[in-house]
Amino acid sequence: MKRDLTCVACPLGCPITVEYTDTEIISVTGNTCKRGEAYAKTEITNPTRSLTSSVKVCGGVLPVVPVKSDKPVPKDMLFDCMKEINSVCVKAPVKIGQVIIENILGTGANIVATNND
Ligand code: SF4
Repeated sequence: MKRDLTCVACPLGCPITVEYTDTEIISVTGNTCKRGEAYAKTEITNPTRSLTSSVKVCGGVLPVVPVKSDKPVPKDMLFDCMKEINSVCVKAPVKIGQVIIENILGTGANIVATNND
């Protein structure tokens, strides 16, 4: 099988072609650095995405605080992670970098605040 991708690991957006079978990656071409190769392999074998959202705050200045995952989560778990994030109401005060949800749904990623409230 063959798949054309656009690398998202940096703003250059190199076009990458991956040839693969059900069990292995045969070749990665078009990337101009190792990060592109790693991105392409992950995208074929276990696609992940960084997650950004916001969490409700109880008793804060603002009703929500922005959050992000501290590492990418499996793409097929994004919807469930968003449901989990939407179910949380964190108590003020919230500090930037504070872990709001640890190891969300067993993905190994923490959801951390990206601002104060
Ligand atoms: S292959 Fe390397 S240079 Fe090209 S977009 Fe990906 S990270 Fe950037």
